[in-house]
Amino acid sequence: MDRKIFIRNSAFTAAGLLLAQKNLLASFFQTPAFKIKMLNKETGIFTEKGGTILFSFTKDGIVVIDTEFPEQSQHLIDELKKQSDQPFRLVINTHHHGDHSSGNISFKGIVPHVLAHENSKTNQQVSAQKNKTEDKQLYPDQTYGSTWCEDIGKENFCLHYFGAGHTNGDSLVQLQKANIVHMGDLLFNRRHPFVDRSAGASMKNWITVLDKTLDKFNKRTTYIFGHAADGYDVTGTSEDLKAFRNYLEKTLTFVEGEIKAGKTKDEIIKATAIPGAEEWKGDGIDRPLTAAYEELTA
Ligand SMILES: [Zn+2]
Ligand SMILES: [Zn+2]
Repeated sequence: MDRKIFIRNSAFTAAGLLLAQKNLLASFFQTPAFKIKMLNKETGIFTEKGGTILFSFTKDGIVVIDTEFPEQSQHLIDELKKQSDQPFRLVINTHHHGDHSSGNISFKGIVPHVLAHENSKTNQQVSAQKNKTEDKQLYPDQTYGSTWCEDIGKENFCLHYFGAGHTNGDSLVQLQKANIVHMGDLLFNRRHPFVDRSAGASMKNWITVLDKTLDKFNKRTTYIFGHAADGYDVTGTSEDLKAFRNYLEKTLTFVEGEIKAGKTKDEIIKATAIPGAEEWKGDGIDRPLTAAYEELTA
């Protein structure tokens, strides 16, 4: 077939194909990579990339806890706007890490307040200065020291600080009426945690933080976790907290034993499992092992 005729004959088809491709491409980019799961009528979790986001619709506006990254927060904002005409009332950061707070910037101009623990704000500022990303930050304008509570709509929101754990600025965010607590990165569900010693983390005190958490809340509390291993949920119960508490304890015991046995740091971090906490598998075991070694030899 002559090329010109082919083009003419197939003009419709080609245009159709182009359109189909465009639609396919558009739908590919539009296909939400995120997941939203409602925990009750007002409250849900958003997951895409980074630490789990909790959001709550109230008659006084929407409250958002953690913000993942700017793109992810924009996805959340767009989605929540479809569900509600309410304005955003408050953004809370469980702690300063970029996978929980760098999405704050997407709320610039649309939320009146950002709240976090005072150490979290300092850590966010220090990290941003170090990484030269200060222009990409929306810092907390409200901070607190040990407890912060406020009624927003029918819900009572409380932030609790139980001391250093994953960093030195981790808040537990409680929705008292719904009996939901966002743990941020104080709980890695069956996944080796990041222990940020440069931001004041303490594995020993992390155990105390979990004890205080178990004392403060109850068996019916739904906990939200910053991260989970593949196949595990980012929500759970006090049983998951006890399992993680055991993991931290067993990690410290294991490393302490290895140090006493004369092993070097390089030898210790070669371990592939923590005896007594084998449910924690996969990448990143060197992180808690290194942190435990440094903490125990400091
Ligand atoms: Zn995280
Ligand atoms: Zn973190």
